Amino acid sequence: MLNKIKYIFKMFQKVDISNKPIPCMSCGACCSYFKVQFDSKYNPQVPWQKIKIIKGSQAVMIGAEEFKGRCESLDGKVGESCKCKIYSSRPDVCESFPVWLNNGLQNPKCIAARKHHGLKPEIE
Ligand code: SF4
Ligand code: SF4
Repeated sequence: MLNKIKYIFKMFQKVDISNKPIPCMSCGACCSYFKVQFDSKYNPQVPWQKIKIIKGSQAVMIGAEEFKGRCESLDGKVGESCKCKIYSSRPDVCESFPVWLNNGLQNPKCIAARKHHGLKPEIE
């Protein structure tokens, strides 16, 4: 019970996350797990060859049209060495996907993606 209260308290805390590790270059799990959908109207920087329009201005990254796909713009091997081939023009949904939340806890979606790929879910 006390641990639960501590966890809830932590969820609303704001902490300095600038020194936390960012292992994305040796991970890439989220790019091979989630459906990557965004509004193309607000993402003109994303190369049109890399996306598929699904409805109106809603678009998905090719390869990541569905859950558990793999974005075709991901280069490398998940869990070893990865990089986004369109890093500087990736969609906002990718840019804003955090490893760490403002409260210092690891993003549960990051944990889920890493777990799915057999990587150590928690980053230390
Ligand atoms: S799953 Fe987490 S650690 Fe891995 S690439 Fe995505 S944000 Fe980075
Ligand atoms: S566009 Fe880049 S960052 Fe976004 S899912 Fe694809 S590989 Fe990952």
